[in-house]
Amino acid sequence: MTSTRVINFGAGPSALPQSVLEKAAEGLLNFESTGIGIGEISHRSKEFSAFLARTESLIRSQLNVPPTHHIIFTQGGGTGQFSAVVYNMLARHRLLHPDLRDDQRTLDYVLTGSWSKKAHEEAIRLGGANVHVAVDARSYSKDGKAFDNIPPHAEYTFSRDPAMIYYCDNETVDGVQFSSDSNAPTFFPFELLKRRANSALLPLVADYSSSFMSRPIPYLAEHAVIFAGAQKNLGPAGLTIVIMRQDCIVDVDVAAKLGAAPVPKMIAYNTLADSKSIYNTPPVIPIYIAGLVLERMAELGGLTYFEDLNKRKAEKVYAAVRAGEEGGIFQSKVQQGSGSWMNVVFNILGEGAEERFLAGAEKEGMKGLKGHRLVGGIRASLYNAITAQDVDKLVAYIDKFIDDEGN
Ligand code: PLP
Repeated sequence: MTSTRVINFGAGPSALPQSVLEKAAEGLLNFESTGIGIGEISHRSKEFSAFLARTESLIRSQLNVPPTHHIIFTQGGGTGQFSAVVYNMLARHRLLHPDLRDDQRTLDYVLTGSWSKKAHEEAIRLGGANVHVAVDARSYSKDGKAFDNIPPHAEYTFSRDPAMIYYCDNETVDGVQFSSDSNAPTFFPFELLKRRANSALLPLVADYSSSFMSRPIPYLAEHAVIFAGAQKNLGPAGLTIVIMRQDCIVDVDVAAKLGAAPVPKMIAYNTLADSKSIYNTPPVIPIYIAGLVLERMAELGGLTYFEDLNKRKAEKVYAAVRAGEEGGIFQSKVQQGSGSWMNVVFNILGEGAEERFLAGAEKEGMKGLKGHRLVGGIRASLYNAITAQDVDKLVAYIDKFIDDEGN
């Protein structure tokens, strides 16, 4: 089994730990000694209910999620949440301020890359509020067009009492991420927001799809909603995790009576929270594999372990890319200080060089390095399942490629 597997640097769905996959294969046949496979057992059975509760508590304990916040498992991916957050946060705002007109409600979007741009487009499409751009990182890019940076704090303009403030922690396509260092200029401006409003009620919403469980989430308690598709650090596609603060779980039908848009049952946070994630049949296999991944994470030392590992992995790859830049072979696509720990993106200069790089990597058993179709270039995704040894192999390959191309 091992010999047929390559190192998968793909951006998602992405690599999963070998040990987890082997355990999951057993569970497919016999889940928790029930004699029934995980894909066959009732989601309301006591064994699955216990597993679901354990999975939730593994997220809660490792991420330090306070009791003010619910953890929900659902479907529809990050993209489903682009719509869900708009509906739910507008319903909440309607209940808080029933007398405002639609054009007096504002949704603030922080645009730092392709995914926050998509979420912003969905908010415009759904209507029901003014959609305001709090900052657009393209204005601070090298060429005025690319998403290559996290803008400085002075450039953000937030509305006075928005129904939502939206950002994406890690832009998977463009390779930019907010820093986890509170002293860095690329840290999200949480303090600025806290000074302006009651921080216990900040309508702050974050897409953590491609950085969830890779390191602690700064100011987690101040977030109204944090969501993530599982298919990067946690498990297979099909599972979406939503962490929502209690005050964001509102009766959407009461809000609709006051004029808010009716919210489809399956994306209403009160449906999902009240039913404890089993309003309908949940994605049992992805939940199972995510649960196994979380157990393994806890055994290895939890988020402290992964934060340290992921930092070191990213530093090594960025150092190799810098060496390629100095040699005139590579060109980094992101500005210093804005680079993602999860997705390192760069261009390879010269006729046919990118193809040579990808073909050579594949020969060495490394796949998934081609950049996103929207932006091209190379993208090395370094999610949790990528080991330090995998990164050493990639770095050795990059070093040799630079040498060979330089000659
Ligand atoms: N947000 C981010 C940051 C992503 O990386 C992705 C997918 O890669 C999405 C949202 C969309 O997720 P999904 O494909 O689960 O809808």
